[in-house]
Amino acid sequence: MKSLFLFLITIIILTSCKQMNSTSGKDSGKQASQIQIKSDGNVKFPDFFAANTMRLDYYHSGNTKEEHFAIDQVVSDGTWPGSTIQLIDTLNLGSYHFKVIDKKSHILLYSRGFGSIFGEWQTTPEADSIWGTFHESLRFPWPLKPVIVFLEKRNASNVFETIWVTEVDPSSRQVTNAGKPSEFKSDVIFENGPASQKVDLVILGDGYTSAEMDKFRKDATRLTNALFNAEPFKSRKADFNVRAVETPSMVSGVCKPHHNIYKRTPLSVHYSSFDSERYALTYDNRTVRDVAASVPYDFMVILVNEQTYGGGGIYNLYTTVSADNKFADYIMIHELGHHIAALADEYYTSSVAYETPDIKLEPWETNITAMFDQKNLKWKDLVEKGTPLPTPWNKEAFDKFGYQVQKTRDSIRTAQLPENVMEDLFFKQKAQEDAFFSKEIYKDKVGAFEGAGYTAKGLYRSQLDCIMYTRHVEYCKVCRRSLENVFNQYVR
Ligand SMILES: [Zn+2]
Repeated sequence: MKSLFLFLITIIILTSCKQMNSTSGKDSGKQASQIQIKSDGNVKFPDFFAANTMRLDYYHSGNTKEEHFAIDQVVSDGTWPGSTIQLIDTLNLGSYHFKVIDKKSHILLYSRGFGSIFGEWQTTPEADSIWGTFHESLRFPWPLKPVIVFLEKRNASNVFETIWVTEVDPSSRQVTNAGKPSEFKSDVIFENGPASQKVDLVILGDGYTSAEMDKFRKDATRLTNALFNAEPFKSRKADFNVRAVETPSMVSGVCKPHHNIYKRTPLSVHYSSFDSERYALTYDNRTVRDVAASVPYDFMVILVNEQTYGGGGIYNLYTTVSADNKFADYIMIHELGHHIAALADEYYTSSVAYETPDIKLEPWETNITAMFDQKNLKWKDLVEKGTPLPTPWNKEAFDKFGYQVQKTRDSIRTAQLPENVMEDLFFKQKAQEDAFFSKEIYKDKVGAFEGAGYTAKGLYRSQLDCIMYTRHVEYCKVCRRSLENVFNQYVR
């Protein structure tokens, strides 16, 4: 009996290796180079896909120099919320990208760019000395037949290169086509049409107790209203559905290590990610995905039941927002810029970027440029005749003020002063910035203003002001267009 049992296990493991082949960098590169991916554009959805979402969960591990992948599970993640017509991603955004191809014909079926917490962690000093593991998911329409999944990352020249190849056979015993594992209460904030023809936004909450669920629903509605008051969301509201999912917590608020506050909450959101006080993330991707899948979703916001200024936004993963901060509207809209359109931060005085870094490559993000090729400026069609490039502005005075604010901000945190002291500082900063901008000749023009992407010199943004630059709740024209390009991928 025992030996038969072992024999069965061996067969299952062999089957598993064959059907869900997980390989590391070098080998996968060899396999990938042998396959000629064919693409004539988007395939006919019903020829290759069922109406469900396949979620491929895996562990992304490594350190500064290496990265490795191992499958966790393949599950059904509910109705397919994305377009059934636009399956191939042509936007070329994100540090990572994945492709799903038909195993037999090698036809490209689906592709999407994304960002990952591992990718950010890999650039921190910690990754020099220890290994890290992060759980991630790739979501694509449920294939009818076996597929090969290629995971790609940008190389030193910013070109995507395959770093992992794996196969998924939807009929395999390792693929679970059952429905969601738990039931969470969901609320419709507004619905405008079928998920496959709309941008579907899901709002989750962390650190809200059962008694605070009414507050969660009000926070979700308030921040949704703020979002759809800002362009380009405002004029595209009819292209969206917004729903919320409730996950009551045993405790109110979330983990804030810099404030010596430790809590465990359903979604495990915590401040101090990568030891940055205001960086609120959760690493519990499996739970977050299971909760979010209660409703169809393309993009995700996690409201954090906290006043402490904080948030985060990762391309195609999620956005976090401290719901009670007086700047919550700004955090929500700004972080969604990272999450939906992979927009770069346009600010630089928050970092210690006094020195000029050696910029050798044009950034792939749509809203910043190194201007190596002035004639082919990314957003040249938006530049009016007569606007000089680079565009002059009173940078020196503005930066001096910005660095001063940063110092005050650090001292407020060090002294652990109440949150309203920080909020007051930000209000004063905003008023002062308005005074600066009002004097500028090119204040409403699209040009190339030096200072962007955490870098004071050598990188440029398109307008004097943008929500990716200051806490004014408006995107620049370039950011607006980038967001709309993404919306357009989901609405037809
Ligand atoms: Zn912008």
